Amino acid sequence: MNSGKKRRARLKQERLEKRENAKRVRVSGQLSKYELSQKLKVDRDALAPNRSYGVPKFVERGYYEDMPFICKDCGVIQVWRSTQQKWWYEVMKGDIWTISVRCRPCRKQERDRKTAARQIHLAGLNAKDDAKEVGQNRTDGETTTR
Ligand SMILES: [Zn+2]
Repeated sequence: MNSGKKRRARLKQERLEKRENAKRVRVSGQLSKYELSQKLKVDRDALAPNRSYGVPKFVERGYYEDMPFICKDCGVIQVWRSTQQKWWYEVMKGDIWTISVRCRPCRKQERDRKTAARQIHLAGLNAKDDAKEVGQNRTDGETTTR
C-alpha cells in the first residue's frame, strides 16, 4: 500500500542490479563487448501511453537490447544502447514507436537546423508585425525604427 516504500525498494533493486552489472563488466574485462549484449528490463508502467493496437517488439519481449542502426544523414553505423532506449522511452516518454535514426553529431546538426529555421520563421512574423505597427503609426505621423 505504501508506494513510497515500494519505490524505495525498486530503486534499491535497481542499484543492486547496476552494481551487479558493473561487477560482471569488471570480471569479463571486455566492457564494450559486454555492453553490446546488455539487456535492460522494460518498465511498462513508465512508458508513454499509446492508443495503437499491439506493442513494439521491445515491449513484447520485455527488455531493451542494444540496437545497431545506420544514421539516416551520414550513413555511419551506430549502436542505440539499451540504456539510451530506456531513457528515451521511460524518462523522456518518447513515443514507443519511434527509434533512433541519427548519430549524435547529426542529431545535433538537425536540432541546430530546426532551431535556426524556427528563428527565421519567428523573425519573419515579427517583421510582419513591425510592418503593421509602422503602418498604424504612420497614421499619427510617427514611425519607429529598430
Ligand atoms: Zn550521422
